[in-house]
Amino acid sequence: MIVLCANRLYTPQDEIQNPLLFIEDGLISAVSSRAQQEIPNHATVVDLTKDLPGAILAPGFVDIHMHGGAGLDVMRASPAELPRLNKFLTTHGVTGYFPTTVAAPLDQTCAALERLADAIAAVTGPSNHNGAQARPLGIHLEGPFLSHKRRGVHPPQYLVEPTLEIFERLWQAARGQVRMMTIAPELPGALDVIAEAARRKVCVSIGHSDAQLEAARAAVRAGARHATHTFNAMRPLDHRDPGILAEVLTDRQLTADIIADGIHVAPAVVQLFLKAKGIERSVLITDATAAAGMPDGIYQLGPIQVSVKDGKCTMDGKLAGSVLTMDNAVRNITQFAGWTLQDAVRAATLNPAQAVGFAHGHGVLAPGAEANLVVLSPGGEVRRTFVRGRLAS
Ligand SMILES: [Zn+2]
Repeated sequence: MIVLCANRLYTPQDEIQNPLLFIEDGLISAVSSRAQQEIPNHATVVDLTKDLPGAILAPGFVDIHMHGGAGLDVMRASPAELPRLNKFLTTHGVTGYFPTTVAAPLDQTCAALERLADAIAAVTGPSNHNGAQARPLGIHLEGPFLSHKRRGVHPPQYLVEPTLEIFERLWQAARGQVRMMTIAPELPGALDVIAEAARRKVCVSIGHSDAQLEAARAAVRAGARHATHTFNAMRPLDHRDPGILAEVLTDRQLTADIIADGIHVAPAVVQLFLKAKGIERSVLITDATAAAGMPDGIYQLGPIQVSVKDGKCTMDGKLAGSVLTMDNAVRNITQFAGWTLQDAVRAATLNPAQAVGFAHGHGVLAPGAEANLVVLSPGGEVRRTFVRGRLAS
Protein backbone atom coordinates (compact mmCIF):
# COMPACT_ATOMS: atom_id res chain seq x y z
CA MET A 1 0.00 0.00 0.00
CA ILE A 2 1.19 3.52 -0.88
CA VAL A 3 -0.08 6.57 0.98
CA LEU A 4 0.36 10.03 -0.58
CA CYS A 5 0.28 13.05 1.73
CA ALA A 6 -0.31 16.53 0.32
CA ASN A 7 -1.55 19.96 1.35
CA ARG A 8 -4.81 19.85 -0.57
CA LEU A 9 -6.78 17.45 -2.75
CA TYR A 10 -9.48 18.04 -5.36
CA THR A 11 -11.76 15.04 -5.88
CA PRO A 12 -12.49 17.35 -7.95
CA GLN A 13 -16.01 18.24 -6.74
CA ASP A 14 -14.76 18.57 -3.17
CA GLU A 15 -11.63 19.93 -1.61
CA ILE A 16 -9.86 18.11 1.25
CA GLN A 17 -7.26 19.87 3.40
CA ASN A 18 -4.21 17.86 4.51
CA PRO A 19 -5.32 14.81 2.54
CA LEU A 20 -4.20 11.21 2.52
CA LEU A 21 -4.65 9.17 -0.63
CA PHE A 22 -4.31 5.38 -0.30
CA ILE A 23 -3.26 3.31 -3.33
CA GLU A 24 -3.40 -0.48 -3.63
CA ASP A 25 -2.67 -2.42 -6.83
CA GLY A 26 -2.92 0.71 -8.95
CA LEU A 27 -6.34 1.62 -7.60
CA ILE A 28 -7.38 4.24 -5.06
CA SER A 29 -8.56 2.45 -1.93
CA ALA A 30 -9.34 5.49 0.23
CA VAL A 31 -9.28 9.29 0.24
CA SER A 32 -9.48 11.15 3.52
CA SER A 33 -8.06 13.96 5.60
CA ARG A 34 -5.06 13.29 7.82
CA ALA A 35 -7.13 13.91 10.91
CA GLN A 36 -9.64 11.22 9.96
CA GLN A 37 -7.53 8.20 9.12
CA GLU A 38 -4.51 6.42 10.55
CA ILE A 39 -1.68 5.26 8.33
CA PRO A 40 -1.12 1.49 8.64
CA ASN A 41 2.40 0.42 9.70
CA HIS A 42 3.09 -1.54 6.53
CA ALA A 43 2.24 1.36 4.18
CA THR A 44 4.85 3.20 2.11
CA VAL A 45 4.32 6.87 2.87
CA VAL A 46 5.16 9.49 0.24
CA ASP A 47 4.96 12.92 1.82
CA LEU A 48 4.74 15.29 -1.15
CA THR A 49 4.66 18.38 1.07
CA LYS A 50 8.36 17.95 1.90
CA ASP A 51 9.66 18.74 -1.59
CA LEU A 52 6.62 20.48 -3.04
CA PRO A 53 5.22 23.22 -0.82
CA GLY A 54 1.48 23.67 -1.31
CA ALA A 55 1.20 20.33 -3.13
CA ILE A 56 -2.29 19.72 -4.54
CA LEU A 57 -3.47 16.24 -5.52
CA ALA A 58 -5.92 16.15 -8.43
CA PRO A 59 -7.14 13.58 -10.95
CA GLY A 60 -5.00 13.14 -14.06
CA PHE A 61 -6.19 15.22 -17.01
CA VAL A 62 -8.33 13.56 -19.68
CA ASP A 63 -7.98 15.08 -23.17
CA ILE A 64 -10.80 13.90 -25.43
CA HIS A 65 -9.61 15.76 -28.53
CA MET A 66 -5.97 15.60 -29.53
CA HIS A 67 -4.15 14.84 -32.77
CA GLY A 68 -0.60 14.53 -31.54
CA GLY A 69 2.36 16.11 -29.82
CA ALA A 70 6.12 15.84 -29.44
CA GLY A 71 6.43 15.77 -33.24
CA LEU A 72 4.09 12.77 -33.66
CA ASP A 73 0.72 12.63 -35.41
CA VAL A 74 -1.66 10.01 -33.99
CA MET A 75 -2.84 8.88 -37.45
CA ARG A 76 0.71 8.21 -38.60
CA ALA A 77 2.71 7.29 -35.49
CA SER A 78 3.94 3.69 -35.35
CA PRO A 79 3.36 1.58 -32.22
CA ALA A 80 7.05 2.01 -31.40
CA GLU A 81 6.75 5.81 -31.54
CA LEU A 82 3.60 6.25 -29.45
CA PRO A 83 5.38 5.99 -26.07
CA ARG A 84 7.22 9.22 -26.92
CA LEU A 85 3.89 11.00 -27.30
CA ASN A 86 2.50 9.35 -24.16
CA LYS A 87 5.48 10.45 -22.16
CA PHE A 88 5.17 14.03 -23.41
CA LEU A 89 1.49 14.11 -22.42
CA THR A 90 2.31 12.81 -18.97
CA THR A 91 4.64 15.75 -18.35
CA HIS A 92 1.60 17.98 -18.87
CA GLY A 93 -0.56 16.05 -16.43
CA VAL A 94 -2.53 13.96 -18.96
CA THR A 95 -3.11 10.36 -17.90
CA GLY A 96 -5.74 9.41 -20.50
CA TYR A 97 -6.61 10.73 -23.95
CA PHE A 98 -8.57 10.13 -27.12
CA PRO A 99 -6.39 10.06 -30.24
CA THR A 100 -8.44 12.01 -32.78
CA THR A 101 -8.59 11.48 -36.53
CA VAL A 102 -8.95 14.11 -39.24
CA ALA A 103 -10.71 13.59 -42.58
CA ALA A 104 -8.44 11.51 -44.84
CA PRO A 105 -8.87 8.91 -47.60
CA LEU A 106 -11.10 6.21 -46.14
CA ASP A 107 -8.55 3.41 -46.44
CA GLN A 108 -5.92 5.55 -44.73
CA THR A 109 -8.37 6.36 -41.95
CA CYS A 110 -9.18 2.67 -41.53
CA ALA A 111 -5.48 1.76 -41.38
CA ALA A 112 -4.96 4.42 -38.71
CA LEU A 113 -7.97 3.15 -36.77
CA GLU A 114 -6.60 -0.40 -36.80
CA ARG A 115 -3.27 0.80 -35.41
CA LEU A 116 -4.94 2.93 -32.75
CA ALA A 117 -7.24 0.08 -31.73
CA ASP A 118 -4.14 -2.10 -31.23
CA ALA A 119 -2.51 0.62 -29.13
CA ILE A 120 -5.63 0.95 -26.97
CA ALA A 121 -6.00 -2.80 -26.51
CA ALA A 122 -2.35 -2.99 -25.47
CA VAL A 123 -2.76 -0.54 -22.59
CA THR A 124 -6.32 -0.99 -21.35
CA GLY A 125 -6.53 -4.76 -20.92
CA PRO A 126 -6.54 -6.13 -17.36
CA SER A 127 -2.99 -7.47 -17.34
CA ASN A 128 -1.42 -5.04 -19.78
CA HIS A 129 0.24 -1.79 -18.99
CA ASN A 130 2.69 0.52 -20.68
CA GLY A 131 4.40 1.81 -17.59
CA ALA A 132 3.61 5.11 -15.98
CA GLN A 133 2.55 6.99 -19.10
CA ALA A 134 -0.56 8.64 -20.50
CA ARG A 135 -2.75 6.05 -22.21
CA PRO A 136 -5.03 6.21 -25.25
CA LEU A 137 -8.48 5.24 -23.90
CA GLY A 138 -10.64 5.40 -27.01
CA ILE A 139 -10.78 6.96 -30.46
CA HIS A 140 -12.40 10.24 -31.43
CA LEU A 141 -13.54 10.33 -35.06
CA GLU A 142 -13.38 13.97 -36.14
CA GLY A 143 -14.74 13.52 -39.61
CA PRO A 144 -15.36 12.44 -42.23
CA PHE A 145 -18.99 13.53 -41.64
CA LEU A 146 -18.32 17.28 -41.50
CA SER A 147 -19.80 20.35 -43.17
CA HIS A 148 -17.98 21.65 -46.25
CA LYS A 149 -18.82 25.16 -45.15
CA ARG A 150 -17.33 24.70 -41.66
CA ARG A 151 -14.60 22.20 -42.41
CA GLY A 152 -11.72 24.23 -41.01
CA VAL A 153 -8.65 22.55 -42.51
CA HIS A 154 -10.19 19.10 -43.00
CA PRO A 155 -9.56 18.47 -46.73
CA PRO A 156 -12.83 18.90 -48.70
CA GLN A 157 -12.14 15.91 -50.96
CA TYR A 158 -12.24 13.55 -47.95
CA LEU A 159 -15.51 14.78 -46.43
CA VAL A 160 -18.42 12.41 -47.03
CA GLU A 161 -22.12 12.38 -46.34
CA PRO A 162 -22.97 10.24 -43.32
CA THR A 163 -24.16 6.72 -44.03
CA LEU A 164 -24.52 3.71 -41.76
CA GLU A 165 -22.31 1.75 -44.18
CA ILE A 166 -19.35 4.10 -43.82
CA PHE A 167 -19.87 4.37 -40.07
CA GLU A 168 -19.88 0.58 -39.85
CA ARG A 169 -16.67 0.37 -41.86
CA LEU A 170 -14.94 2.80 -39.51
CA TRP A 171 -16.36 1.01 -36.47
CA GLN A 172 -15.08 -2.35 -37.69
CA ALA A 173 -11.62 -0.98 -38.48
CA ALA A 174 -11.48 0.47 -34.97
CA ARG A 175 -12.80 -2.80 -33.51
CA GLY A 176 -15.40 -0.89 -31.54
CA GLN A 177 -12.89 1.46 -29.91
CA VAL A 178 -14.62 4.59 -31.24
CA ARG A 179 -15.75 6.42 -28.09
CA MET A 180 -16.49 9.81 -29.62
CA MET A 181 -17.54 11.19 -33.00
CA THR A 182 -17.82 14.77 -34.22
CA ILE A 183 -20.54 15.14 -36.84
CA ALA A 184 -22.38 17.98 -38.59
CA PRO A 185 -26.04 17.20 -37.84
CA GLU A 186 -27.48 19.12 -40.80
CA LEU A 187 -25.96 16.73 -43.34
CA PRO A 188 -28.34 14.32 -45.10
CA GLY A 189 -28.28 10.99 -43.26
CA ALA A 190 -26.68 12.44 -40.13
CA LEU A 191 -29.55 11.73 -37.76
CA ASP A 192 -29.53 7.99 -38.55
CA VAL A 193 -25.78 7.79 -37.94
CA ILE A 194 -26.11 9.83 -34.73
CA ALA A 195 -28.80 7.47 -33.43
CA GLU A 196 -26.79 4.36 -34.29
CA ALA A 197 -23.56 5.72 -32.81
CA ALA A 198 -25.39 6.77 -29.62
CA ARG A 199 -26.86 3.27 -29.40
CA ARG A 200 -23.28 1.93 -29.43
CA LYS A 201 -22.41 4.27 -26.53
CA VAL A 202 -20.36 6.64 -28.67
CA CYS A 203 -20.34 10.20 -27.34
CA VAL A 204 -21.85 11.97 -30.35
CA SER A 205 -20.60 15.54 -30.53
CA ILE A 206 -22.03 18.16 -32.87
CA GLY A 207 -19.46 20.33 -34.57
CA HIS A 208 -17.77 21.40 -37.80
CA SER A 209 -21.32 22.42 -38.54
CA ASP A 210 -23.39 25.10 -40.21
CA ALA A 211 -26.58 23.83 -38.56
CA GLN A 212 -29.49 26.06 -37.80
CA LEU A 213 -31.15 25.81 -34.42
CA GLU A 214 -33.72 23.16 -35.43
CA ALA A 215 -31.13 20.82 -36.95
CA ALA A 216 -29.01 21.06 -33.81
CA ARG A 217 -32.03 20.28 -31.63
CA ALA A 218 -32.92 17.32 -33.84
CA ALA A 219 -29.39 15.99 -33.29
CA VAL A 220 -29.88 16.11 -29.53
CA ARG A 221 -33.20 14.30 -29.86
CA ALA A 222 -31.40 11.65 -31.95
CA GLY A 223 -28.76 11.10 -29.25
CA ALA A 224 -26.05 13.77 -29.55
CA ARG A 225 -24.89 14.92 -26.13
CA HIS A 226 -21.77 17.06 -26.61
CA ALA A 227 -20.35 19.82 -28.82
CA THR A 228 -16.88 20.04 -30.37
CA HIS A 229 -14.58 23.07 -29.98
CA THR A 230 -17.44 25.47 -29.37
CA PHE A 231 -17.31 28.59 -31.60
CA ASN A 232 -14.61 27.15 -33.87
CA ALA A 233 -15.85 25.71 -37.18
CA MET A 234 -19.43 26.52 -36.17
CA ARG A 235 -22.09 28.73 -37.71
CA PRO A 236 -21.60 32.00 -35.80
CA LEU A 237 -24.13 33.20 -33.24
CA ASP A 238 -26.48 35.87 -34.53
CA HIS A 239 -29.24 37.27 -32.40
CA ARG A 240 -31.82 36.74 -35.13
CA ASP A 241 -30.29 33.52 -36.48
CA PRO A 242 -29.35 31.65 -33.31
CA GLY A 243 -28.12 28.48 -35.02
CA ILE A 244 -26.22 25.59 -33.48
CA LEU A 245 -24.40 27.87 -31.02
CA ALA A 246 -27.60 28.90 -29.26
CA GLU A 247 -28.40 25.23 -28.76
CA VAL A 248 -24.90 24.37 -27.55
CA LEU A 249 -24.79 27.26 -25.08
CA THR A 250 -28.28 26.86 -23.64
CA ASP A 251 -29.19 23.14 -23.64
CA ARG A 252 -28.51 21.58 -20.24
CA GLN A 253 -28.53 18.12 -21.85
CA LEU A 254 -25.33 19.03 -23.69
CA THR A 255 -21.80 19.20 -22.41
CA ALA A 256 -19.40 21.14 -24.62
CA ASP A 257 -15.70 21.65 -25.07
CA ILE A 258 -13.55 24.62 -25.92
CA ILE A 259 -9.94 25.31 -26.93
CA ALA A 260 -8.86 27.71 -24.19
CA ASP A 261 -5.55 28.83 -25.65
CA GLY A 262 -6.62 32.46 -26.06
CA ILE A 263 -6.02 32.13 -29.84
CA HIS A 264 -8.93 29.98 -31.05
CA VAL A 265 -11.48 31.87 -28.97
CA ALA A 266 -10.93 35.29 -27.40
CA PRO A 267 -10.56 35.13 -23.61
CA ALA A 268 -13.77 37.16 -23.06
CA VAL A 269 -15.70 34.65 -25.18
CA VAL A 270 -14.14 31.74 -23.29
CA GLN A 271 -15.55 33.44 -20.21
CA LEU A 272 -18.98 33.66 -21.83
CA PHE A 273 -18.80 29.96 -22.71
CA LEU A 274 -17.87 28.99 -19.15
CA LYS A 275 -20.75 31.05 -17.78
CA ALA A 276 -23.18 29.38 -20.15
CA LYS A 277 -22.06 25.78 -19.56
CA GLY A 278 -21.10 26.20 -15.92
CA ILE A 279 -18.79 24.12 -13.76
CA GLU A 280 -20.63 20.87 -14.53
CA ARG A 281 -20.76 20.97 -18.35
CA SER A 282 -17.63 22.81 -19.47
CA VAL A 283 -14.88 20.63 -20.92
CA LEU A 284 -11.34 21.66 -21.81
CA ILE A 285 -9.62 20.09 -24.81
CA THR A 286 -6.35 20.84 -26.55
CA ASP A 287 -7.00 19.91 -30.22
CA ALA A 288 -3.20 19.68 -30.17
CA THR A 289 -1.21 18.72 -33.24
CA ALA A 290 2.18 17.07 -33.57
CA ALA A 291 3.62 20.55 -33.08
CA ALA A 292 2.71 20.66 -29.39
CA GLY A 293 5.91 20.74 -27.35
CA MET A 294 7.99 21.38 -30.47
CA PRO A 295 9.73 24.44 -31.94
CA ASP A 296 8.22 26.50 -34.79
CA GLY A 297 8.22 24.60 -38.07
CA ILE A 298 6.20 22.37 -40.42
CA TYR A 299 4.27 19.41 -38.97
CA GLN A 300 1.92 16.70 -40.21
CA LEU A 301 -1.77 16.69 -39.24
CA GLY A 302 -3.26 13.52 -40.71
CA PRO A 303 -3.01 13.99 -44.49
CA ILE A 304 -2.10 17.70 -44.39
CA GLN A 305 0.84 19.82 -43.36
CA VAL A 306 0.54 22.69 -40.91
CA SER A 307 2.97 25.41 -40.08
CA VAL A 308 3.62 26.71 -36.62
CA LYS A 309 4.83 30.16 -35.74
CA ASP A 310 4.59 31.95 -32.39
CA GLY A 311 2.23 29.37 -30.92
CA LYS A 312 -0.17 29.54 -33.90
CA CYS A 313 -0.79 26.42 -35.94
CA THR A 314 -2.12 27.23 -39.42
CA MET A 315 -2.63 25.98 -42.97
CA ASP A 316 -3.24 28.53 -45.74
CA GLY A 317 -3.95 31.14 -43.08
CA LYS A 318 -6.63 29.01 -41.35
CA LEU A 319 -6.18 27.83 -37.78
CA ALA A 320 -5.24 24.14 -37.84
CA GLY A 321 -5.31 22.66 -34.37
CA SER A 322 -3.19 24.02 -31.58
CA VAL A 323 -0.01 23.64 -29.58
CA LEU A 324 -1.99 23.85 -26.35
CA THR A 325 -1.41 21.48 -23.42
CA MET A 326 -4.04 20.56 -20.84
CA ASP A 327 -2.20 22.11 -17.90
CA ASN A 328 -1.99 25.38 -19.82
CA ALA A 329 -5.71 25.26 -20.62
CA VAL A 330 -6.45 24.79 -16.92
CA ARG A 331 -4.29 27.73 -15.92
CA ASN A 332 -5.73 29.86 -18.75
CA ILE A 333 -9.33 29.63 -17.57
CA THR A 334 -8.33 30.67 -14.05
CA GLN A 335 -7.07 33.84 -15.76
CA PHE A 336 -9.64 34.32 -18.51
CA ALA A 337 -12.67 33.74 -16.31
CA GLY A 338 -11.43 33.94 -12.73
CA TRP A 339 -12.31 30.29 -12.14
CA THR A 340 -10.77 28.66 -9.09
CA LEU A 341 -8.07 26.09 -9.79
CA GLN A 342 -10.44 23.45 -8.40
CA ASP A 343 -13.20 24.27 -10.90
CA ALA A 344 -10.69 24.55 -13.75
CA VAL A 345 -9.32 21.12 -12.85
CA ARG A 346 -12.84 19.72 -12.94
CA ALA A 347 -13.22 20.90 -16.56
CA ALA A 348 -10.11 18.88 -17.45
CA THR A 349 -10.90 15.73 -15.48
CA LEU A 350 -14.35 14.75 -14.23
CA ASN A 351 -16.27 16.68 -16.88
CA PRO A 352 -14.58 15.13 -19.93
CA ALA A 353 -14.71 11.69 -18.30
CA GLN A 354 -18.45 12.04 -17.69
CA ALA A 355 -19.07 13.54 -21.12
CA VAL A 356 -17.67 10.45 -22.82
CA GLY A 357 -19.41 8.07 -20.45
CA PHE A 358 -16.61 6.76 -18.27
CA ALA A 359 -18.84 5.64 -15.44
CA HIS A 360 -16.10 5.45 -12.86
CA GLY A 361 -12.36 5.18 -12.70
CA HIS A 362 -11.26 8.21 -14.70
CA GLY A 363 -11.32 11.89 -13.82
CA VAL A 364 -11.97 11.41 -10.10
CA LEU A 365 -10.05 10.70 -6.93
CA ALA A 366 -12.36 8.27 -5.19
CA PRO A 367 -12.19 4.70 -3.86
CA GLY A 368 -12.24 2.20 -6.73
CA ALA A 369 -10.92 4.63 -9.35
CA GLU A 370 -7.59 4.02 -11.04
CA ALA A 371 -4.83 5.95 -9.27
CA ASN A 372 -4.28 8.35 -12.17
CA LEU A 373 -3.36 11.67 -10.66
CA VAL A 374 -1.32 14.82 -10.82
CA VAL A 375 0.45 16.83 -8.18
CA LEU A 376 -0.04 20.52 -8.89
CA SER A 377 1.56 23.62 -7.45
CA PRO A 378 -0.85 26.25 -6.10
CA GLY A 379 -0.40 28.02 -9.47
CA GLY A 380 -1.48 24.92 -11.42
CA GLU A 381 1.96 23.79 -12.59
CA VAL A 382 2.32 20.01 -12.98
CA ARG A 383 4.92 18.72 -10.50
CA ARG A 384 4.33 14.96 -10.66
CA THR A 385 2.08 12.58 -12.56
CA PHE A 386 1.05 9.11 -11.41
CA VAL A 387 -0.51 6.52 -13.70
CA ARG A 388 -2.14 3.53 -12.00
CA GLY A 389 -0.31 4.48 -8.84
CA ARG A 390 3.10 4.60 -10.44
CA LEU A 391 5.17 7.77 -10.65
CA ALA A 392 5.91 8.86 -14.22
CA SER A 393 9.57 9.70 -14.58
ZN1 LIG B 1 -9.39 18.53 -34.00
